[in-house]
Amino acid sequence: MRRAKSISKRQLSEKLIPKEVKHMAKDPVCKMSVDEKTAQYTSEYKGTTYYFCAPSCKATFDKNPAKYASSSSGHGGHGCCCGNC
Ligand SMILES: [Zn+2]
Repeated sequence: MRRAKSISKRQLSEKLIPKEVKHMAKDPVCKMSVDEKTAQYTSEYKGTTYYFCAPSCKATFDKNPAKYASSSSGHGGHGCCCGNC
């Protein structure tokens, strides 16, 4: 006999998780989740739009976009900060 009851209970709770998380972009400066649809601070770099939670984050990105853009795409977070790779 298997505990079929407990399994079906878990499936139910998984259905309740909202799927809005999918549309969240990540602030490359502070790593906070930012809603792409309501984001007030955005910046474009090399054809990619980046979203920020605050004007200070956008300003930080604009000063050195290569540093933050490379950490979120391309090389999968190898932690290098030389700026040449
Ligand atoms: Zn931020």
